[in-house]
Amino acid sequence: MEGVGKRNPGQPEFLQAVREVAEDIFDYIIHKKEYHEYQILRRIAEPDRVVSFRVCWEDDNNNIRVQRGWRVQNSNAIGPYKGGIRFHPGVTESILKFLAFEQTFKNSLTGLPMGGAKGGSNFNPKGKSDHEVMRFCQSFMTELYRHVGENIDIPAGDIGVGAREIGYMFGQHKRITNRFTGVLTGKGLEYGGSLVRTEATGYGAVYFAQNMLSRVGNAIDGKVCVVSGSGNVATHAVEKITQLGGKAVTLSDSLGFIHDPDGIDEEKLHWTKEHKTRNHGRISEYADRFPGATFYEGQRPWSVPCDMAFPCATENEINGTDARRLVQNGCIAVAEGANMPTNLDGIHFFRGARILYAPGKAANAGGVALSGFEMSQNSARLSWSEDELQEHLKTVMRGIHDRCLEHGGLAGTDHIDYIRGSNIAGFVKVANAMLAYGVV
Ligand code: NDP
Repeated sequence: MEGVGKRNPGQPEFLQAVREVAEDIFDYIIHKKEYHEYQILRRIAEPDRVVSFRVCWEDDNNNIRVQRGWRVQNSNAIGPYKGGIRFHPGVTESILKFLAFEQTFKNSLTGLPMGGAKGGSNFNPKGKSDHEVMRFCQSFMTELYRHVGENIDIPAGDIGVGAREIGYMFGQHKRITNRFTGVLTGKGLEYGGSLVRTEATGYGAVYFAQNMLSRVGNAIDGKVCVVSGSGNVATHAVEKITQLGGKAVTLSDSLGFIHDPDGIDEEKLHWTKEHKTRNHGRISEYADRFPGATFYEGQRPWSVPCDMAFPCATENEINGTDARRLVQNGCIAVAEGANMPTNLDGIHFFRGARILYAPGKAANAGGVALSGFEMSQNSARLSWSEDELQEHLKTVMRGIHDRCLEHGGLAGTDHIDYIRGSNIAGFVKVANAMLAYGVV
């Protein structure tokens, strides 16, 4: 870890992600000579490459704007690079390196042949017109197209990148290369997208929670659930919680959270999705629209008593104090829809408290799994049915859960440490492929 720290100064999120995985892997590989001899851990913590580039675009007032774009290709040991693109003013190289590192293990856990990558820009899509977003996306792809391809690197969406942005980027890629290929996932259904991709991350996180509960003879039915975020992952998590008989009572955004003790039912969720995606509205307005709800400015929802928590907004949104409060208030399970939403203090607390705790790399892998299926459909030039894909999603989430059981069992107890389970299961496949290649 000392070496990783020296080689990556000023990159706290990346170091945090490496440390979290290394804590489990050190222990696992201690007697496995070949992993040491071939420096597998050290090599996995060094991205294959980091591409950084200038993105110039013109705003509606004819001002020239300059942003920075990145693509971090962490590992293609088990398949072409794969991972989302994030547009957010807080994006840094450190954040994208942590996400690409995590993505490598997550993709491995799905059982599908996908390597790990992540990209993005410090561009802020909020408050921009459609034309500004289009010009930015076109400029971003004008550089990115050199580094991606359906057998090289297949980006998808993430924070700030949804169907609109994917459409603009796909269109520009097609225009530059004169090729219609499955170079991006999360595409519109009219041009090679897959059914169920939009819902997959949020639904998948709830399926994972359902798997954890059913292993201990429990269920989501009747559970009060606290959810953070109000974007793609959060809203679909709420949808699936409700379908399975649970009651979701919170949603949030970067300005605060709403608490609706009556539950966010289908009608309220429909309003939220429209309000957030079509009108780019704030979650505070939920409380104006639905009088039973209250908006808490500048706060996160972890003080609301609940049975289960689904952090679905962003990284490091649960710290040690939040984790303690959740457990003290009766929370028995946490499934992370977001990437690394819990900091190391929080993780240590959840681990010590022995609650059912599913880290993002396991619980939110449904999204990338569906992206994998989108790639398969594009290659075969076929479209699978909704029923088929819903079943595939459930099967993938069950498979990831069961892979965690293989390495997550705590000796002498019935408890499963899902972080350890997911870190080791994700690592082994990538590490063994690296061993097969020798030193490359
Ligand atoms: P969206 O852009 O659709 O929504 C993001 C939500 O998180 C918004 O409600 C946003 O609020 C909130 N948010 C963003 N940054 C912050 C912040 N710094 N503090 C508080 N709230 C914040 O993104 P997604 O739903 O797609 O992604 C959410 C998380 O899930 C991310 O961690 C992402 O990496 C992860 N993920 C997403 C996948 C996908 O398929 N989309 C797949 C796997 C993981 P506001 O509107 O105020 O910015």
